[in-house]
Amino acid sequence: MAKKIDLKQYLGKEMKCGCGRTHSTPLDELDIDRGALNRLPAYIQRKGYKKVYLVADTNTWQALGKEEAGELDKAGVSFSQYILPYTDLIPNEQSVGEVVIHCPADCDLILAVGSGTINDMCKFISARLKLDYIILASAPSMDGFVSVGAALIVSHVKTTYDAHCPVAVFGDPDILAQAPMKMISAGLADILGKHTCLLDWKMAHLINGEYYCDEVAQMVRDALAVVTEEGPKIKDRNPDAVKAVMEALVLTGIAMYFTGNSRPASGCEHHMSHYWEMKFEMEGKKPVLHGTKVGINTIAATYMYRMLAAEDIDFKAAKQKDFDYKGWKERVERCYVDAAPGIIALEDKCQKNNIEARNKRLDFYEEHWDEMKKLINENLPTVEALRDLLSLLGGAVNPAQIEVSTEMVKDGVVLAKEVRDRFTLLQILWDLGLSEDYSLRLADYFEKNQ
Ligand SMILES: [Zn+2]
Ligand SMILES: [Zn+2]
Repeated sequence: MAKKIDLKQYLGKEMKCGCGRTHSTPLDELDIDRGALNRLPAYIQRKGYKKVYLVADTNTWQALGKEEAGELDKAGVSFSQYILPYTDLIPNEQSVGEVVIHCPADCDLILAVGSGTINDMCKFISARLKLDYIILASAPSMDGFVSVGAALIVSHVKTTYDAHCPVAVFGDPDILAQAPMKMISAGLADILGKHTCLLDWKMAHLINGEYYCDEVAQMVRDALAVVTEEGPKIKDRNPDAVKAVMEALVLTGIAMYFTGNSRPASGCEHHMSHYWEMKFEMEGKKPVLHGTKVGINTIAATYMYRMLAAEDIDFKAAKQKDFDYKGWKERVERCYVDAAPGIIALEDKCQKNNIEARNKRLDFYEEHWDEMKKLINENLPTVEALRDLLSLLGGAVNPAQIEVSTEMVKDGVVLAKEVRDRFTLLQILWDLGLSEDYSLRLADYFEKNQ
């Protein structure tokens, strides 16, 4: 049986770690238990906040905001509220502006009632207004509850802003379990993505000597173990299973805070998802939940990692391959369109595709190939296990289900790595000269397994 997650052990202290760093989180309180709504006003009073600004949208107001407002009233907590009049809230200039305009001048705490979007907006606004914020979660749909970045859509482009961590996270499992199933399964899929993300991190450590903390990696592995075990029960909206997912999401958020970046929570499965997301925005398509894309790309990354583990590489031939900069640049311009200059500038600066550096890595792969294969085989689930769990919960397991084209899948495998300088499976494939071939084989797999 998986170890139960004890989130409280991480709060309110500095942990001297074997990795040489000291880890801590500014998170003060976590209450993800039955009756949390009831206990929130007392917490607010205990912390001495005088004027609360409750922010919800029409969905989250109905689901739990209204009830919480009643609790605040009953406890005599002074507050005002703003309910964003949208059922499909987009965190753009309009909505952020509305929340700021309605914010009372004497407010000293923002209470965000929602999940991904409301959390991002309130995280950003409270940071800019130098106010504390608390998140009262409506759905366990993504792992950004206690992370620092806030993703907003500015001038139609998704941009991540530096913000801050909430003071507290509250959530009632009974209410979380009533969230739309696609949101719960997206949250679970965001956790499943840690399988490939942790392996990417380990590879980056082994190959490039990148900073790695085994304690933090273990926290994320614990989250994975709990979610894998409890996951099937989510089908029946079992509150304990949903609570486990919510805790796992918060735990990976804490893990990110500990390392100061998203390494423990985001690898190539996220990069490919971000690529799809960008294409969706460019094409004006309706956005798909973050975790849903991550789930499909976790299947994709696992499939490709497993192919790689079965491969006998001709390293000599790989070392002789040239980098066709012109061809690469043309494809970047075609795929990234307006974002292409930034991508090209990043490559010029970071030299991810530099032949000399690649050949050094190839030498390393050649020498450690068995070790790398062993890491893959020991650290990943099977593609079938991932598919089974996600399908059981009605989650998408194929790009076609969310209208991602075969083209997008292939371009993602080859080019998603260009968005940032972070070593993952996609770089290993490029180094070995396998990107193109694997993109075709992956597209073929998805076509045959719809
Ligand atoms: Zn550490
Ligand atoms: Zn994620």
